[in-house]
Amino acid sequence: MKIPETMQAMVLEAPGRPLRLLKVPMPRPGPEQVLIRVRACGVCRTDLHIVDGELTEPKLPLILGHEIVGTVAAVGEQVQKFRVGDRIGVPWLGYTCGQCRYCRRGRENLCDAPKFTGYTLDGGYAQYTVAQEQYTFHLPEGYSDAAAAPLLCAGLIGYRSYTLAGEGVERLGIYGFGAAAHITIQVAVHQGRQVYAFTRAGDTETQEFARSLGAVWAGGSDQLPPEELDAAIIFAPVGALVPAALRATCKGGVVVCGGIHMSDIPSFPYDLLWGERLVRSVANLTRLDGEEFLALAPKVPVKTEVQTFPLEQANEALNRLRAGQITGAAVLVVPIGEGQ
Ligand SMILES: [Zn+2]
Ligand SMILES: [Zn+2]
Repeated sequence: MKIPETMQAMVLEAPGRPLRLLKVPMPRPGPEQVLIRVRACGVCRTDLHIVDGELTEPKLPLILGHEIVGTVAAVGEQVQKFRVGDRIGVPWLGYTCGQCRYCRRGRENLCDAPKFTGYTLDGGYAQYTVAQEQYTFHLPEGYSDAAAAPLLCAGLIGYRSYTLAGEGVERLGIYGFGAAAHITIQVAVHQGRQVYAFTRAGDTETQEFARSLGAVWAGGSDQLPPEELDAAIIFAPVGALVPAALRATCKGGVVVCGGIHMSDIPSFPYDLLWGERLVRSVANLTRLDGEEFLALAPKVPVKTEVQTFPLEQANEALNRLRAGQITGAAVLVVPIGEGQ
């Protein structure tokens, strides 16, 4: 296969500006890297936080996108896991140092010197990208490229959040019913949990979507559920949901904040935390999370609901996500051009 000298990419030049469709040089894979022909790339809320300047240390100019599904187009000389033509998935965690105290303790998600796909490394809003082989995944069969994309962040982070909510959870609340929630609920229901879904007040369409995926109850985040929750996961980037979720949670319950950014958490009475309730965040993912979740997803089987947009409509996809107008997950699809 002949690799062109240039490619098209949607590029973020500065926070607060729309992405621009530009012709940029073809990335070259290093010895441990693969060059990937991108087929689909999920649009994540984290991308919005980067575009909006809430995550303050992006590489610039930047190609966003960390839920990449593609085909290996070339391999570096030390690559072993993949061959040209293989399908491959690339997640948010792009590199870790392997030497800091977190890496040495198996907590590479907390690495002191990490690199992140589509944030400090160029990502998948492009025709091609490169990735460090050891941080990529083989993908399960039975998923189209677009359907597999949301597994790589919404799925992985959702799964890590779900795991951190603890074992023995019977009643699980999920606040914010977007891409991560629509995957997490399927795993939770499969494992016999009762799921209570909370959406923006009055969003009956999303509440209906949650019920269709097995929620025993769905309502607005301003409501209390009919039963006390054993644990709650907050996927919406809204700090006010922390006291709301604590109020809905039983003694000893856990409230897991699954997003990378959240508006300030308002002060709340100690009573809401009393009773050994816990509040915790989820940071990034480990490669083990990825291997576990990608093995589990086809067994559930997790089905993803995607709304696809051509690559050049990335701004439209981001705007619709910001406005809460995406059911399930938004995914950019990259058509196969001539000779590619
Ligand atoms: Zn490290
Ligand atoms: Zn993400």
